[in-house]
Amino acid sequence: MARQHVVIVGAGFGGLAAARALAHADVEITLIDRRNHHLFQPLLYQVATAGLSPADIAAPIRSILRGQRNARVLLDTVVGVDREARRVILAEGCPIAYDRLILATGARHSYFGRDEWAVHAPGIKTIDDATAVRRKVLLALERAESETDPARRQALLTFAVIGGGPTGVEMAGAIAELARRSVSRDFRSITPHCSRVLLIEAGPRLLGAFPESLSDKAQSAIEELGVTVLSGKPVTAITDRSIDVAGIRIPTHTVIWAAGVEASPAALWLDAAADRAGRLMVKQDLTVPGYPEISVIGDTASFTDPSGRTLPGVAPVAKQQGRHVARMIARDRSLPFRYRDFGNLATIGRHRAVIDFGRLRLSGTFAWLLWCTAHIFFLAGYRNRLLVGANWLWSYLTFERGARLITGESAPALNGDTA
Ligand SMILES: Cc1cc2nc3c(=O)[nH]c(=O)nc-3n(C[C@H](O)[C@H](O)[C@H](O)COP(=O)(O)OP(=O)(O)OC[C@H]3O[C@@H](n4cnc5c(N)ncnc54)[C@H](O)[C@@H]3O)c2cc1C
Repeated sequence: MARQHVVIVGAGFGGLAAARALAHADVEITLIDRRNHHLFQPLLYQVATAGLSPADIAAPIRSILRGQRNARVLLDTVVGVDREARRVILAEGCPIAYDRLILATGARHSYFGRDEWAVHAPGIKTIDDATAVRRKVLLALERAESETDPARRQALLTFAVIGGGPTGVEMAGAIAELARRSVSRDFRSITPHCSRVLLIEAGPRLLGAFPESLSDKAQSAIEELGVTVLSGKPVTAITDRSIDVAGIRIPTHTVIWAAGVEASPAALWLDAAADRAGRLMVKQDLTVPGYPEISVIGDTASFTDPSGRTLPGVAPVAKQQGRHVARMIARDRSLPFRYRDFGNLATIGRHRAVIDFGRLRLSGTFAWLLWCTAHIFFLAGYRNRLLVGANWLWSYLTFERGARLITGESAPALNGDTA
């Protein structure tokens, strides 16, 4: 009998975990991704703030699966699924037939219906996004060095991060350290106190998914770094030169979006029910209602456990779901998924973090060391682990940011900056 053909779409945390967990199963795997690399998104903010280089946090998918004989990798974009004919439709290649399909296509930014903000307030989801943000931040500093008009200079030195979740907190802390500590030594007119970093959150507090005590500690730690926290304040307008927060206009050239995500269009491809964030509502075994041969996992799935809790869009959920679906395929039976929650982590600046392990809550330098260890451990490949570890040690000792490169167009211009 022919081996089952398992098609996995997306080589992020979920898809890659599924492919690896099927290494010894009697199946043929085709893993399709529109990018040639697996990306460790939790460290993207360090690329955006010049702490790490893109290659430190990404690895070619082909290299990762080099030794796995039952897997092949295709570089293409999936644009649809023909459920009845059991084929995935590709943007460039011929349709691919499947016996089992795993959709793990992740999520993208959501501007809550204000898509026109995207151009002024980029988010970070890919390497390109992160290097574009790095360019924006570094260019603002370069322009501020030579700007003589005090109001324009203040706008250039004002950085606004929207969204007080882990990514926003990490991003704001890293920008504050970059602008106030690392670069001020290299510039002649930028002193540690002339930059302003704003962290804006519409909800009542930072890190809403963490217990209130840790959220308070994170707020104190980030304020000590020089970040101004504006919580309970919705953003009502963003232009290329300013942001309106609760009716007050703040001039700035650099706004970064860390506020919302929406799932990839898997639910549309399958014409299946989705939640408000576009995540496909899967059954308890992660399959699509009516289609037991199709599983949806990670950020693109909405899974509600028997206690009524909907799982968050984080890497451990995606990985555990990937391994779970692989187990079901290998055993050829349906099994209910149960998430093992090992806790929440967020880092603030160069030596503080908060960790929520349920009953055990940690903050400060020890939590930061645990955060570093966990992130190095989960990075793909020994090379990346070694490089990131060495980079962090170097920046910790010297405050240096090794990847302070402005890349992109030859004649760089800031948004709206025509002067
Ligand atoms: C900036 C940032 C920081 C984060 N920090 C943390 C953190 O600290 N801790 C944590 O647990 N989680 C964090 N997350 C969330 C975590 O990264 C996601 O939950 C996780 O990546 C979800 O895994 P996934 O497999 O569902 O999707 P992804 O890892 O996003 O992978 C999706 C893959 O599908 C591919 N793809 C998408 N559409 C198509 C298509 N049409 N055709 C072909 N390929 C396609 C993409 O190229 C990508 O490789 C962070 C996310 C971001 C953006």
